[in-house]
Amino acid sequence: MRSDSIFKDDIAKIIIPERVLQNRIEELGGEITSSYQHGEEVVMVCILRGAVMFMADLSQQINLPVIFDFMDVSSYGVATESSGVVRIIKDLEENIENRHVLIVEDIMDTGKTLKYVVDMLQTRNPASIKIATLLDKPERRVVKQINADFNGFEIPDEFVVGYGLDFAERYRNLPFIGVLKKELYS
Ligand code: 5GP
Repeated sequence: MRSDSIFKDDIAKIIIPERVLQNRIEELGGEITSSYQHGEEVVMVCILRGAVMFMADLSQQINLPVIFDFMDVSSYGVATESSGVVRIIKDLEENIENRHVLIVEDIMDTGKTLKYVVDMLQTRNPASIKIATLLDKPERRVVKQINADFNGFEIPDEFVVGYGLDFAERYRNLPFIGVLKKELYS
């Protein structure tokens, strides 16, 4: 972290430094590219707002024709926990029927948000749906039927911020993943 960072006192520890993050994203781009064996066009669906950084960096490491689309969902619940009741704030612009969809999400926690999004997009008859998540907290999973096809890092059950992830809309612009000090949200 830069020594003059205004967020220096809010971060308990950095768990994924910038360089490690970027190296893994490069690898993931390779894995994703080779999983589509015929150079298919992929509609990348960024789940706003947390996945914006990941979408931007990951897409540059995918050697396929790619279309960008964005979906904003909010899950009702207390500040750091999702309830599974999801509301669509912004839907896709693209018609995904018969197209290959890659959902790009920041973190899979209980799995409720992704389960809802996948079930909803399936009803539109895409050719395929795959999921790429930057982070996964397997200990927290409630919805067992859902798994990411591509995952950057498994992390322990701690509340993290940075690289798109926020707390009360802050910290998204940090270039690393860090654990927020507990006293700031408990
Ligand atoms: P799920 O529905 O899988 O429980 O929750 C997924 C959403 O919860 C993520 O898209 C993210 O917005 C939020 N979330 C879960 N864990 C964390 C975390 O450690 N940090 C932040 N900033 N958001 C989280």
